[in-house]
Amino acid sequence: MSEAVVVIGAGQAAAQLALSLRQGGYAAPIRIVGDEGHIPYQRPPLSKEFLAKYRDPSALFLRPESFWREKDVTLDLGTAVAQVEPDQRRVTLADGREIEYGTLAFATGTSARIPPLPGITLPGVFSLRKIADVEQLRPALNAARRVVIVGGGYIGLEVAAVTVSEGREVIVLEMEDRALKRVAGPATSTFFDTYHRGRGVDIRLGARLTAIEGDERAKSVRLASGESLAADLVLVATGACANDELAAAAKLACQDGILVDEFARTSAPGIYAIGDCTRFPSRRYGRRVRLESVQNAIDQAKAAAGAILGKPQPYDPVPWFWSDQYDIKLQIAGIAEGFDSAEVVGDPASNRFAVEYRCGGRLIAVDAVNDGRAHMMSRRRIAEETAAEAAPARA
Ligand code: FAD
Repeated sequence: MSEAVVVIGAGQAAAQLALSLRQGGYAAPIRIVGDEGHIPYQRPPLSKEFLAKYRDPSALFLRPESFWREKDVTLDLGTAVAQVEPDQRRVTLADGREIEYGTLAFATGTSARIPPLPGITLPGVFSLRKIADVEQLRPALNAARRVVIVGGGYIGLEVAAVTVSEGREVIVLEMEDRALKRVAGPATSTFFDTYHRGRGVDIRLGARLTAIEGDERAKSVRLASGESLAADLVLVATGACANDELAAAAKLACQDGILVDEFARTSAPGIYAIGDCTRFPSRRYGRRVRLESVQNAIDQAKAAAGAILGKPQPYDPVPWFWSDQYDIKLQIAGIAEGFDSAEVVGDPASNRFAVEYRCGGRLIAVDAVNDGRAHMMSRRRIAEETAAEAAPARA
């Protein structure tokens, strides 16, 4: 049987897995297959400084190309894995090549969630997940005066910050009653809402998009209220879905994400899954979670490497995440969902504060705004308080 490790996807998690395997002394072949044409790169700057100061994409590369050669990691780029046959321990690429593996890892990430609405495929409508998206979006932004961003999550708000700072008119449409609802509590949402409005962003809450209008390209957006808003450019930033179709087709257990255990093992022998594409059991939070963060991609990849190297260490992190908007850094530790009390520490008016979320008296999450120290301390405090009464994960 082949001893090769084959990784599907060439993103943050794939890069970390290959690196950790080599650091751990894994000597057999490692091969990463990625459908984008780039060596592994970091995505966070795509909606922040890379969009603002657009330059050579190599600025985003996690390691130079020479590094992968030195580590003897083979990169098959610009080609997708089209089929996985677990019984044969074989994958087939879209270009027809077949590759045998001893161990396989899915690191397929997520895709932008695009609502199936009239006009959504018109020229002038964009989404943002990869370098190729910025390569299209940036020139279009340069020509746009009025930008409509659909979705007031972190990507939508980060792009709003970049574009309004360039002097463009920016409208953010948010279906919910507050921005950042999926990732942060009300006090944090209010702070960012106020900050953006103060910079000139027109945030429309409870605004549901029903169509994008235009003949040859997007000209306006239509809301459920019947209102129509002119737009030179529309960015759809309405979340992401796990790329789990390939795994599901190979009969791996999936549930909005590839299901893995605390060692990143899927339901099929010899197959792991890591990063954004997975749903894993969190004993801390007593449920399965799917995370979209650099922390998770890196740390879950390390856990998978440990298991492959025969030194398994269960993965049960205090997740953390950051977002940069203007001169504000938001750092989120833990998962606030299900909190029963929220306490603001510090003064939001000073642009430096934290929000502590508790459930049954235990600290489960903290949003820190421009307060790196509070963030670092909260990671330790949450780890202690959530470990004390860790509940078994539900399936
Ligand atoms: P990815 O990095 O998405 O890599 C997956 C790769 O697999 C992709 O290249 C995909 O095309 C490829 N692929 C999929 N299917 C196949 C196939 N069948 N064959 C071959 N290749 C395939 N996180 C933070 O913590 N902080 C931030 O500030 C932050 N900002 C972000 C801003 C943007 C605009 C985006 C898009 C993401 C941001 N994130 C941020 C999230 C973070 O980038 C992801 O969590 C991280 O990249 C996940 O790594 P991954 O390896 O799981 O997936």
